[in-house]
Amino acid sequence: MSTFHIWSIGCQMNTADSRRISESLEKYGLTAADSLGRADVAVLYSCVVRQGAEDRVHGHLQKLKAAKAQRPGMKVIVAGCVTNPVGWRKRYPFVDLIAEPGQDLSIRDRLLDLLDLGERYRFDPEAAVRLPGISEGVTIHQGCNRSCTYCIVPSTRGGERSRAPRVVVDEVHQLVARGAREVVLLSQIVERYGRDLRPRVLLSELLRQLNAVEGLARIRFLTSYPGDFGQDLVDAVAELPKVCEDINLPIQAGDDETLRRMKRGYVVDHYRQLIHRLRARMPEIGLQTDVIVGFPGETEAQFQNTLAMLEEFRFDVVHVAMYSPRPGTVAATELVDDIPREEKRRRLHDVEALQKRIATTINQRYLGRTVDVLVEGTAKGRWYGRTRTNKLVHFGDERPLAGQVVDARITSTEPWFLEGEVVAVHEARPAAPMRLPVLA
Ligand code: SF4
Repeated sequence: MSTFHIWSIGCQMNTADSRRISESLEKYGLTAADSLGRADVAVLYSCVVRQGAEDRVHGHLQKLKAAKAQRPGMKVIVAGCVTNPVGWRKRYPFVDLIAEPGQDLSIRDRLLDLLDLGERYRFDPEAAVRLPGISEGVTIHQGCNRSCTYCIVPSTRGGERSRAPRVVVDEVHQLVARGAREVVLLSQIVERYGRDLRPRVLLSELLRQLNAVEGLARIRFLTSYPGDFGQDLVDAVAELPKVCEDINLPIQAGDDETLRRMKRGYVVDHYRQLIHRLRARMPEIGLQTDVIVGFPGETEAQFQNTLAMLEEFRFDVVHVAMYSPRPGTVAATELVDDIPREEKRRRLHDVEALQKRIATTINQRYLGRTVDVLVEGTAKGRWYGRTRTNKLVHFGDERPLAGQVVDARITSTEPWFLEGEVVAVHEARPAAPMRLPVLA
């Protein structure tokens, strides 16, 4: 047993969990295979949140079946989001281990048991250290106790579980020691972090601990839930120099009746009050949101309320999706998917066109300004990085800048990215929050 292959799809949590499993296997002496056909252990990190993702997962399972037929000793493990573990076990009997919802945090230990690695390899935490990315995801909490009617996460990821602050802080220290400059704390409902721990811990308290980690430049967290975003968290984001002014806060609809059918647990005015509180402390804060169009029963008037909400709140980024029923959700069993696909597509295009106009205006405010950019890598021979407010910035420069925080003067703007030039390179220190004009 000496090589492994990991295939992951879906959210940043799956990417972060895949990295942790990969590191564990490397510590036990396994090395990454250059192809699935050469792997002794194959791990599939699954996502079934959208139909397209689930289709690709089933496609990859067919590849795993063929690979195992060629290499009968191969161990196949499926983790991440799984809709129906019992059904999947029957459909894919060649899979050696399928993580049940709620067991994914312990998948690493179960995988090591399955492979009998404790006996075969001496644990050497110093072995096989690989260079991580500049920005690394760290899962701090899994599962969700809410029951939004369209969402499959509670049944695929189970109830809420938090990782102890000490464990999270240790992992962040290790990532920084290996070169990471930014961590993104991951959870499906990140404000619920620590509520299941004894003694209870708040996300704001974890942020304060992480803010003290030397060498770490930036901290982000996602995904937020408007109903649980307390004033302590608003204050932590405003006060802690390493925590970026960048919040991913899905609203899903700008209409109270639609939100009620989604069982989101808040009304638009609650959300409005929250972003007023955030912008009162941080006028320049970057806000992203998610919107679903064509939810069952969404009338034209209700959709227009969503467009009016987007005009009013003026997000930096809107992730918009057409509703599609996911088997096993309340919406799929109890609500009628009554909006024709063409109509859903029209609403999607309306949101995209409006958001392009809003993002164009917001980004034009950056023209001529100097902003802090954490340089993450290169694309097409040019550097790229992000501002604290999560704006993507491209620029050319001959110096080795990966992992540096630079001052970049913005020379042109597009709705989805900025172009700039470096005017100064900082030491490895957290950047001060930048100041932009208050939104109109
Ligand atoms: S809060 Fe988020 S993860 Fe939880 S059920 Fe609702 S949409 Fe799904």
